[in-house]
Amino acid sequence: MFDGKPFRVLPRITDDTEFFWTAGRDGVLRFLACDSCRYIVHPPAPICPRDHSRHLSPCEVSGRGTVHTFTVNHQQWYPDLDPPYVIAIVTIEEQDDVRLMTNLVHVAPDAVTFGMPVRVVFDRYLDVWLPMFEPDPTRGGPEPDPTIAPASPTGGGGEDQ
Ligand SMILES: [Zn+2]
Repeated sequence: MFDGKPFRVLPRITDDTEFFWTAGRDGVLRFLACDSCRYIVHPPAPICPRDHSRHLSPCEVSGRGTVHTFTVNHQQWYPDLDPPYVIAIVTIEEQDDVRLMTNLVHVAPDAVTFGMPVRVVFDRYLDVWLPMFEPDPTRGGPEPDPTIAPASPTGGGGEDQ
């Protein structure tokens, strides 16, 4: 699946996806939404699948989500990234068919549960802000522990937002 380094293979940014990968600059998660029916279209596409509108624009979401499923990686695939770390699919609060493949940070892998409430944090690499998620204690999740994060190739670890 990952064919290059660093571990977090940086996305190819196009005019259609730049808003998504740079939203973390403002600390806000954004998705493309239909201007007429407000359906969130992710991954971004030029046409709304609900009403076939071609008028879509970025919208802000809360950044709150839920762990839909997850796996704990124990392999040292990459020299800069020490296992274990958590790869998860997170659904967003606004629309539960929007699913993000992401990493969970600031939580011990054995404390992660299905359905755990999480909130977005951004991990910056150059001009890309990767959305990741930490537990949301305001909605019943465990308290995030900033000392627990996958080591990043840039040493950022997600703390410098
Ligand atoms: Zn629509």
